[in-house]
Amino acid sequence: MLPVARRTEVLVLGGGVAGLSAALAAAKLGAEVLLIERGNCLGGTATAGMMALFYTPYRCAHSTPKEIFDRLIAEGGAFPGEVISVDHEAFKTVALEMATERNVRLLFHTTCADVVMDGNRLRGIVIEGKDGRQAVLADVVIDASGDGDIAARAGAPMSKGRDSDSKMRPMTLLFRMGGVDVGAMLEYVRGNPEEFSKDPNQMLLDVAGKNIRIFGFFGLVQRAKQQGYLYDDCHYFRVESVFPERGSLLVNTIRIYGVDGTQAEDVTRAEIEGRRQQKLLLRFARDFLPGFATAYILDSASHIGVRETRRIIGDYVLTEEDIVDGARFPDTIGVDSNRQNPKGFRHSPDGKEGSAEDIETREWVADLFTYEIPYRCLIPQRIDGLIVAGRAISSNHAADGYTRNQPACMVTGQAAGAAAALCARLDVEPRALDVATLQAALRQLDAKLRADELRVDELRA
Ligand SMILES: Cc1cc2nc3c(=O)[nH]c(=O)nc-3n(C[C@H](O)[C@H](O)[C@H](O)COP(=O)(O)OP(=O)(O)OC[C@H]3O[C@@H](n4cnc5c(N)ncnc54)[C@H](O)[C@@H]3O)c2cc1C
Repeated sequence: MLPVARRTEVLVLGGGVAGLSAALAAAKLGAEVLLIERGNCLGGTATAGMMALFYTPYRCAHSTPKEIFDRLIAEGGAFPGEVISVDHEAFKTVALEMATERNVRLLFHTTCADVVMDGNRLRGIVIEGKDGRQAVLADVVIDASGDGDIAARAGAPMSKGRDSDSKMRPMTLLFRMGGVDVGAMLEYVRGNPEEFSKDPNQMLLDVAGKNIRIFGFFGLVQRAKQQGYLYDDCHYFRVESVFPERGSLLVNTIRIYGVDGTQAEDVTRAEIEGRRQQKLLLRFARDFLPGFATAYILDSASHIGVRETRRIIGDYVLTEEDIVDGARFPDTIGVDSNRQNPKGFRHSPDGKEGSAEDIETREWVADLFTYEIPYRCLIPQRIDGLIVAGRAISSNHAADGYTRNQPACMVTGQAAGAAAALCARLDVEPRALDVATLQAALRQLDAKLRADELRVDELRA
């Protein structure tokens, strides 16, 4: 018999942007919340993983995500524009402050090792840390692990990767370079447009607003490859979260294909391959890229970036058509915005990303649109007592290209938190929760629930 370490109304597994938003929303609605995280900070991929670019225009942010961004902006840690770049260290601190101010109990350095089931009803989870294995019981559990760890262990039906063959998007070890003459780099970018992507989503040069994203250096990469500098899967060099005055930028170029983020051996192989690519990229940058002669590796993510693994199969599986055709759902729990073109750039499991062959088949129209996410996508089939938020919600592979983005994960996180708080208070199962009651609670949090509430025509202007 395992010792029961704690009991709580709402248990959140995972402190990424989804788990953070869930915990903040549940606590704001009065629930007792415990958040368990295997790392040493909040933010997950956004902080420990260094993905410091939130793919939404600031003017589309609402409710809990907006609260977080506004707090960060006030502290000089986020830069609002067509996307929102954040200082990931500032994000760690602000997230921790907001969670503790709302009395969210935190347990770091602790992994979920198993689930506590009563038939098909999840009662809690088994945690493992330096102090051994213990059980934590909860009225409602939110799986915000990104990989659907709890749902999978509880026996919920899951999908993984691409619908046809389960292959997953590539992994990326994100790292920052320092010692970069950003001015020289920008001069090259402006003077050589043929060297860069035509996709407005991939090229942002808002220098004053500190929202810079550069995708290309195609010719220099090809030349370096001919001289044996780089690896086969490298077709471009991509940077974002550029801070000109610091001479630092985030390199989002490493690509590792054919690995599964739920298999420790695969993730280990990916971490090793990530370091190999990182070393080659530094050498390439120093020798070929204008402004990079004295560049160095400033730091790297504490965990390789995993774009895709398992997703639950809920009572509704969101599709890309739902998203781009503007489907309306009676059980909508939030609105996200995006400007991805379905025929535009995407991270395919097949490789060749950014190669001439890939680029030639793409379309570059990028109109902003909004879409709704139904509550049914957060509820796994068969298992009670569980709500899923973030990357592992119920969507197909193509729709995951939108819902895995950080702003969408915050929207589903907030909804999961609100739903869990209500379920605990009203003593109902998540799948039986009255949607109108949930929507009213989300309105209390200032959430936009209908796609037209963001008035996209005005937002596009
Ligand atoms: C390389 C890369 C680039 C990206 N680029 C962008 C971009 O430009 N813009 C954008 O908006 N999005 C981007 N994304 C997508 C986005 O960052 C993620 O999909 C999103 O952050 C996922 O949030 P989450 O909270 O669902 O999961 P995560 O951030 O993965 O958080 C899950 C948390 O749970 C913890 N955890 C997991 N399992 C356990 C366990 N068993 N026990 C205890 N703790 C556990 C983890 O440590 C982690 O902190 C990118 C992702 C990657 C990897």
